[in-house]
Amino acid sequence: MTTKTRPDVSPFRSADHLPKRRGGQAPDPAYLPRQRAGVTPQMHGRYPDFDILSQEDAWDEVTRRVVLKRLEPYGEPQFFSADEWRTLSAFSDVLLAQHSAPKVDVLAHVDAKLAAARGGGVNGYQYDDLPSEQETWRRSAAGLDETAQARGAADYAEAPTEVQAAILSDFMDGRLRGGAWAGMNVVRAFQVIAGDLLEGYYSHPWAWNEIGFGGPAYPRGYMRLGMALDEDGDQREPWEKPETRDIDAALLKDNEAHLGSKVRAEEPVNLDWLKTEAARAAQVAAELAANPRPFRANSYKRLLKGAIQPRENDSFRLLHVHRRAVPQENMRRYADDDEVDLLIVGAGAGGGVLAQRMARVGWRVVVLEGGPFWDPDADWVSDEAASHHIYWNGKRIIGGNDPVALGKNNSGHGVGGSMVHYAGYVPRFHPSDFMTQSLDGVGADWPISYWDVTRHYEACETELPAAGQDWPWGHVHRYTHSPHPISGAAERLIVGAGKFGMAMRVGPVGIANGTFGNRPHCIYRGFCLQGCKVNAKGSPLVTHIPDAIEHGAEIRANSTALRVLMDGARATGVEYVKGGQIRRQRARRVAVAGYAIESPRLLLNSAQKDWEDGVGNRFDQVGRYVMVQGAPVVMGRFPEMLRTYKAPPPEVSTEQFYETDAGRDFKRGFSIQTTGPLPIGFSHSILGEGHWGDALREYGRDYNHWASLGGLCELLPHPDNRVTLADVTDHHGLPVARFDHSLHDNDKKNIAYAKRFIRGLLEQSGAQDIIAVDRFAHLIGGNRMGFGPQDSVVNSDHKVWGTENLFVTDGSACPTQGSANPALTIMALSSRLGERFSRNQVPDDQPTPQPRRQKDRAELFGPVG
Ligand SMILES: Cc1cc2nc3c(=O)[nH]c(=O)nc-3n(C[C@H](O)[C@H](O)[C@H](O)COP(=O)(O)OP(=O)(O)OC[C@H]3O[C@@H](n4cnc5c(N)ncnc54)[C@H](O)[C@@H]3O)c2cc1C
Ligand code: SF4
Repeated sequence: MTTKTRPDVSPFRSADHLPKRRGGQAPDPAYLPRQRAGVTPQMHGRYPDFDILSQEDAWDEVTRRVVLKRLEPYGEPQFFSADEWRTLSAFSDVLLAQHSAPKVDVLAHVDAKLAAARGGGVNGYQYDDLPSEQETWRRSAAGLDETAQARGAADYAEAPTEVQAAILSDFMDGRLRGGAWAGMNVVRAFQVIAGDLLEGYYSHPWAWNEIGFGGPAYPRGYMRLGMALDEDGDQREPWEKPETRDIDAALLKDNEAHLGSKVRAEEPVNLDWLKTEAARAAQVAAELAANPRPFRANSYKRLLKGAIQPRENDSFRLLHVHRRAVPQENMRRYADDDEVDLLIVGAGAGGGVLAQRMARVGWRVVVLEGGPFWDPDADWVSDEAASHHIYWNGKRIIGGNDPVALGKNNSGHGVGGSMVHYAGYVPRFHPSDFMTQSLDGVGADWPISYWDVTRHYEACETELPAAGQDWPWGHVHRYTHSPHPISGAAERLIVGAGKFGMAMRVGPVGIANGTFGNRPHCIYRGFCLQGCKVNAKGSPLVTHIPDAIEHGAEIRANSTALRVLMDGARATGVEYVKGGQIRRQRARRVAVAGYAIESPRLLLNSAQKDWEDGVGNRFDQVGRYVMVQGAPVVMGRFPEMLRTYKAPPPEVSTEQFYETDAGRDFKRGFSIQTTGPLPIGFSHSILGEGHWGDALREYGRDYNHWASLGGLCELLPHPDNRVTLADVTDHHGLPVARFDHSLHDNDKKNIAYAKRFIRGLLEQSGAQDIIAVDRFAHLIGGNRMGFGPQDSVVNSDHKVWGTENLFVTDGSACPTQGSANPALTIMALSSRLGERFSRNQVPDDQPTPQPRRQKDRAELFGPVG
């Protein structure tokens, strides 16, 4: 039996919690009915008639292969030794409460993952107080045995259940010291190990049976999203099964009462402050409704919504109706010796748009992309655990007081960049984001204003296309496509927010609502973060790259830039590696667009004659002012079945709290957005709150009852939050990036407030239990745009100070981030630069005139398009 106890939590949140455990019951969840169809671990579950494998014929071939392989017996371990296997299997059973057969062979999943990544990065980052992930696993296995021996057992596997549980608890809380644990941050080692094990468990079809997860529905997707909640709210597909009601009704009642009442009784929330906030929110909502801003030109758009096609981008027509891959047969190829007009590093949000814009006006463009050219049909898997290959998993070292986990949560790899697996929210920045220093005395002013980018926002929204309700915050605007239908979870939250006096809007998402050229409509299957196999979700891979190719650009995949080549102030090309060969592409101009980590790294790794500290780094600015957003996830448990996995994770959001508010004790603000975690993501939040063993499993079985809101808090730029070069090298022999990050006072207050606020909101909406975990999202900065080389890396035309023809055109150029997700802004900035290039407004060899400084507050309420 597990014994994790936390003094400040309700019984439901302790590891002992089992809603139906009555004195002396065995740890096996025997209070649940036996599985009648399919298999669950220990053959008990809440959905005894549900067998996800009955749907396997409806899955796409690649996904089916990957998922069914998990059911095959696993051979000899490839990474772990026999002793390690024994120890870690026992540990995994305790963590996951797998007390009896049949069990999910979780360690097999981890063993295969570690073996595949031998020598390279596993999850895309390494804490500076931990060894490599492989070494962390080995040392933890040794540490578990040593600790068990110190407590009188032969080893961990042989230790009595209570001892195993106590060691696990000490491991989680970082109380293990000395021996194999020495020199490791034990809390973080636990997070690494437990995270991998959870992935192994909740990626298995038996676990999906247990929790009633609908799985990788494709090609048909979901049709019953949970709209119009009925009595028990379970809007499921015909093949999805209802939650069982044939278990002991009295116990079930206890369970629900327990979930519903205990938390509030034991953790009373003082709602007075919420009432003040609610009044303020209601007032803003009323003002917005009473004073709609004029829409003029946009009134026509409203009439034409959905029928509007992008004027200068044919991507949506260039894709095949039945195949997802981008046609490359006729792609133009350039020789390394050709001095192309523009060489771009990185085919993501920034690089992809710039390539398309310049190819359209006849420039000879080459894009070097380190990752592959994705074919969604063949390469992508509708599965959380099998999508690692689309994330940037190369090693990066993270440190500082508040290190930021990278990898899948933060950056992508391959043509399309991070947007291939981004969630799909596409809000604009507010006008105030471009002048936070002038307005609020914090952050930084940009050398350009919102109005310099407005029409590029509009163009990119049409090209994605963006779908959503009319937007009342920031610069009021409308969207190209009307809003998507929403899931039961989002509906629950939007209704709850309304009761609370808060306005939420559906969208905005960069997902086609209705067909769009040859791109099909969204089928609400919720695998946006794993790459949308449907092509409904926009990313440069489908929204700009096809048009760039059609107009003569070459997208050179699997080509990693090693350094920018300089001749004094002129960039002459880029040295890169492709197929093991080191090559040099010549170019008249170079644009770096490799993301907020890799772009500073590339400039720093490009140290050479005249640029001894890295290109553009004469004033030690490269890599500084990297920002993330505080992105706490707060989940609420509701009595209805919400099945949050249906629909794209981003559904409804509010920017009502975006700007500085004198009533709060911090500057700037936050937005709130729904997130729709799939089972592995959900289980990480449960673990993050400290639940393991039987409690973890019980929370897991409850998956379909939970809805999730994320805060997106503006964190301010600080020079010490920076990318530098680590003393570890990659397989090309180049130093990898090190990213140090610490929260400052304003940042902490903002996150704490947003978390408290969302918690209150969920309480008001009727949530019976609440879980909140901290995380970060969305890196930008590092090569920021500014007014001079002493405090920035590029000027208002993205040109690196001190160079004539080197540009940075990705998120690293942004000086602030607001509380809006950044992808659309990054695209719009590239679109603006493209326009300036094509109008000859960015001369190669003259310094760009000092841009005007935006100080006029009236600008916030300036032209409305
Ligand atoms: C899980 C997740 C969810 C997200 N959700 C949202 C969201 O809902 N809304 C939103 O607005 N944003 C979201 N984002 C963030 C958004 O995707 C990024 O901010 C945006 O894509 C960054 O654009 P970029 O041009 O800076 O870099 P990227 O789009 O990452 O492109 C960089 C490209 O450069 C390549 N590259 C890097 N170094 C080299 C090199 N040396 N040589 C060759 N190629 C190189 C990389 O492989 C990559 O393809 C999300 C991101 C993630 C990971
Ligand atoms: S956008 Fe997301 S929910 Fe819609 S089809 Fe694509 S993966 Fe599925």
